[in-house]
Amino acid sequence: MPISESVKKDSILIKLIPDIISKYRDNIISIFGIGSYFDDSLPSDWIKSDLDIIVVVKDLEAITKTNWIYNKKYKKIEYRNYKIWIAFNSLDSLHNQEIFEKESFANYKWALIDLKIPQNSKLLYGKEIRNSLPDLNSIPFNYDDILKRSLYHFEKSFQKIDRNESQNEFTKGIFKFVFYLCVFYDNDYCRTSIREITNKLEKLNLSERIERIIINIVNEAIKYRSANEFKTEFTKLRNDFVHYVFILLCNGTLHRKMDFQEIVLFLKDTFGGLVHLIRLAKADNYKCKTLEKELSRYKLWGSLMPEKSFYSNLRKFLSQEGWDILRRAVYKKERYKCHICGIANIQLEAHEKWLYDYDNSIQKLQNIIALCKMCHLNNHLGFSNVLIVEEKLDKKDLIRHWCQVNNKREKEFEVYERKVWKLWDLRNNFTWKIVDHNDNEITHNTKLYDLLKLIAQNYLK
Ligand SMILES: [Zn+2]
Repeated sequence: MPISESVKKDSILIKLIPDIISKYRDNIISIFGIGSYFDDSLPSDWIKSDLDIIVVVKDLEAITKTNWIYNKKYKKIEYRNYKIWIAFNSLDSLHNQEIFEKESFANYKWALIDLKIPQNSKLLYGKEIRNSLPDLNSIPFNYDDILKRSLYHFEKSFQKIDRNESQNEFTKGIFKFVFYLCVFYDNDYCRTSIREITNKLEKLNLSERIERIIINIVNEAIKYRSANEFKTEFTKLRNDFVHYVFILLCNGTLHRKMDFQEIVLFLKDTFGGLVHLIRLAKADNYKCKTLEKELSRYKLWGSLMPEKSFYSNLRKFLSQEGWDILRRAVYKKERYKCHICGIANIQLEAHEKWLYDYDNSIQKLQNIIALCKMCHLNNHLGFSNVLIVEEKLDKKDLIRHWCQVNNKREKEFEVYERKVWKLWDLRNNFTWKIVDHNDNEITHNTKLYDLLKLIAQNYLK
């Protein structure tokens, strides 16, 4: 059997393939190339460093076990700055998932997609067996497994000390994660080329299945593969993205819904435990961001002020007279309507809206808005509870207003309320620096004149 023309033209393959053939001779059915090295659709400046070869053999046991990894039929060679991965599969295993999983640590369906679809693989030597491989539609995806493979590379990225290796692992994780998204949202999806995957992501974004942030990160990863550098600060980019994946899991946007505790268990159960990712999943700042993202899907939700900041709000800094002037100006700015529910011709109250930067423990005054009494009470659930206990407020009224504004059912309130208190608990773990719009610190020592000037300039327009 002749070796293919593409092997003859390639200076690495022309050494590698005849070497494999001479070693395993009659046992070989075919040799395929998969992955980016064989992907002609990639940009010409793409830095190729991995080379993946699949050798399909008649008898796997006949292959000598030297240099095999994890007892599976894998071989890794380093040659001219390339990491060459040679995987051996028996033809039987490609037809039978159970046998395959004993022989290989790859994902069965993913491996078949790689091999069977001509756009994903190149026949380098031997028999064309792709048409005879099992029908892909009849095999279910193991989404847990595909997701875990992506997370594994994120974990490795944390482990690597060398910056380049670390970044490279991260991009591998990204590419695997987006493949997972493609097959999760479209069960018939079967291309592994990065270009095809990005096309698919664009379509998924257009149909609002995935957010733009995913396409942006893939584009960053693609650029990295050409320029060897990330434009955005890498550590933050990585942490934020891994956390974003956790958020998707929490929201139930992916193949299963997990809360943070379940995510930690899932990570513990993945490739011997992904310790760096577990640490990230347990970090308060990320938990807060997740909860806040979930809660902010409600039009009306209680963003409770942390305990330590109770006495650092404007109301406490200003005299009654100053506060009266301020709140009237706020009502006027809001055209005498509630900022959240829009109701007019009702008594209004001024409310300070704060932004929480959990990475830097900064609590920033974002806005001063006018709220109707019920929206305001919903924003201060702690105070509302006091009124409820004192029988000055009926909780039913509070919940009814919340349901009305958010267009939700009553039974959702309880779940929502638990999240509000959870977020408050977590916010209490930080020591907050309180700042204004321009990042200037607001303290008890801020002069009243400066405070009023600041409010007039930034919050009353
Ligand atoms: Zn309102």
